[in-house]
Amino acid sequence: MQNLFDIHDWKITEQEFDPAKQKQAESIFSIGNGAFGQRANFEEKYSGDTLQGSYVGGVYYPDKTRVGWWKNGYPEYFAKVLNSCNWIGINIEIDGIQLDLNTCEIKSFYRELDMYSGTLSRKVKLKLSNGKELEINSIRFCSMEREEVAAISFSITPINFSGNVKFTPYLDAKVVNHDSNYDEFFWEEDSRKVDVQKGIVTTRTKKTNFSVATAMRFSFWKEKELLEIHPNIAQSECYIENNFEHYLEQKVTYTLKKYVSITSTVNHSEFALTTKAIINVRDAYVTGFDKLLDEHKKAWSTIWDKADIVIEGDSAAQQGIRFNIFQLFQTYTGKNEKLNIGPKGFTGEKYGGATYWDTEAYCLPFYLKTANPSVARQLLIYRYNHLQKAIENAEKLGFKNGAALYPMVTMNGEECHNEWEITFEEIHRNGAISFAIYNYIRHTGDVEYLEKYGRPVLIAIARFWGQRFNYSESKKAYVMLGVTGPNEYENNVNNNWYTNYIARWCIQYALEVDGLLEEKLGSLLHQNEKELWSSIVSNTYFPTLEGTNIFLQQDGFMDKEQLEVSDIPLKERPINQHWSWDRILRSIFIKQADVLQGLYLFEDHFNEQIIEDNFNFYEPKTVHESSLSPCVHVILAAKIGNLPKAYELYLRTSRLDLDDYNHEADEGLHITSMAGTWMSIVEGMAGVRILTDRLKINPVIPSVWKKYSFQILVKNNPIFISIAKDEYSIENRGNTTVSIENKGQISELKPDEIFLNSI
Ligand code: BGC
Repeated sequence: MQNLFDIHDWKITEQEFDPAKQKQAESIFSIGNGAFGQRANFEEKYSGDTLQGSYVGGVYYPDKTRVGWWKNGYPEYFAKVLNSCNWIGINIEIDGIQLDLNTCEIKSFYRELDMYSGTLSRKVKLKLSNGKELEINSIRFCSMEREEVAAISFSITPINFSGNVKFTPYLDAKVVNHDSNYDEFFWEEDSRKVDVQKGIVTTRTKKTNFSVATAMRFSFWKEKELLEIHPNIAQSECYIENNFEHYLEQKVTYTLKKYVSITSTVNHSEFALTTKAIINVRDAYVTGFDKLLDEHKKAWSTIWDKADIVIEGDSAAQQGIRFNIFQLFQTYTGKNEKLNIGPKGFTGEKYGGATYWDTEAYCLPFYLKTANPSVARQLLIYRYNHLQKAIENAEKLGFKNGAALYPMVTMNGEECHNEWEITFEEIHRNGAISFAIYNYIRHTGDVEYLEKYGRPVLIAIARFWGQRFNYSESKKAYVMLGVTGPNEYENNVNNNWYTNYIARWCIQYALEVDGLLEEKLGSLLHQNEKELWSSIVSNTYFPTLEGTNIFLQQDGFMDKEQLEVSDIPLKERPINQHWSWDRILRSIFIKQADVLQGLYLFEDHFNEQIIEDNFNFYEPKTVHESSLSPCVHVILAAKIGNLPKAYELYLRTSRLDLDDYNHEADEGLHITSMAGTWMSIVEGMAGVRILTDRLKINPVIPSVWKKYSFQILVKNNPIFISIAKDEYSIENRGNTTVSIENKGQISELKPDEIFLNSI
């Protein structure tokens, strides 16, 4: 795979400007701070192909559903993450000519995303059509220290002239979503105010009534001297600007420093919203760019101290994992319980910034091992808060007695996905939520959570499964018909192995938890429910390939033409961009881990031979056209000792967007799978498992790596693990003794002790 951007341990860089790559680069070089984010659009006007994108966490719009043929039960809307006020804008004009990289001659171009510092910068030398040459140097960041603040330093140096240059810093909230279903404008203006060197625009979403206030202030500098300027002000609906002309001397650098604050009613009352933005931006202005930048860098360095993974001897792998960790923290910091993790984070519009099963299946394990347990708890409570809506959602589909079906896609607990084969059939998502509760309890032992929040969710989910299975007279077992498994390249199948397996497990676990809490709190189950559930658990149907260890993805799987991915001509990959949908559905090719997803979650239920046989059966048929796929395959490949495959797929998962494997990085990044990438090192290469009472480890190291190391939290106790060619060490950097299991041996690791072992 060809690298699209330069390889560097801590940076993503680009040495020349390629307009055809601009939308990809806008995604890759995105910056954010968990509360809001911004694609790497240029500050100045750009008339080339671009996806202008500024997104604010938790703010969405219910865009009216658009489908070919309406089906009962479809949600009325799809919740869209909203493209909101463009706060980066600074237009530049010289002799009436707009500075625009699409129309001028670019003499040199350098763009850099510094992941250690969390900054995006640019250095460009260019020549305008009137022959005037200048250099731009810009740097910007979304403060990791001040959730509602961002800052830009934008410098211009005339190279071959002295003369007047017009600067127009502005805020433009008249933005549209590119993916709007009916070209609707989702915002209306609440208020705007503009004054000399400052201004604010507040807009409100139609229907959902979220208000977002964006405030700016700016200063203008000649080298280190603050200049007094007298800008004009202008405004129109949802838009404010300052503009001023200044005489620039040749070879002298002039800098516009723009400070911004973004506040929303997700976190503030209507009343406080604009005042808060004004106070924030004033404070930022008074603090100054350099100090703001320092505190921002410090916040990032604290994150890196805890969450970095160091890989020695393989820069592409190193850059890949840091890019993933960086983007994850830019998307979700765990500070705000109202937010969740959208598959594209703040880097694009697709997937609506909504919550998917990705959060529980992929992100939660990452936060469980890298953040305070309160973060994972918060993510689970988010679902508890949506329980009533999940029950209503199931009722709409005909389920009863408190059965809950969590939505495939949601912003507020309501389902907002509208493809029948996903909305009604991709019900395995319910299982991921129960499994996440189990995983959380395994990591934390938080019984209070289980009693109060976990059990009701587990039971409501189990009620759904209890009603969704039906008894087959012909098979003399419980079956589940008409589902879509994780592999979305199959729809409406019967007995998807993964769904049957996780559904049965959910029922079993709900029974177990209810039994555990019965003595103290009483049972929440009816006797007939218990009986039905026990009967399902002991008699669920699973399709298998007779005489082998293979679990079949669904009934009829072997009727398909038995091909492998290597049979598909390269020019037809990814198949979802080249083949008709019906051809994909009929083919054997698997979009993402399906049976293997189950073997990953429930690995303790199966011996290694079974895992290996299924891996060898399914991996050659998997096209990995969901970002969520390769990481699961890495973990299993490492487990069965197939290191070359583990390494190949590790590069694929960690560099998926950086190298744009699936040709879609222009739409935004695959944020949720990035947590899976982290797991592919920690659970895959290092073979780490956190069990109720111990940390289990079984490390391997790819041949090109010299060493790799990372820190994880075990019951909130920092444990530092370093793995070299033949040996590895585990250091207890916390205050509690931790039990370690390796090759069946258990050792106790006291605080400050280091455990050394050979691989
Ligand atoms: C995958 C789903 C996933 C969604 C959002 C789809 O392509 O098939 O499993 O939930 O993307 O990441």
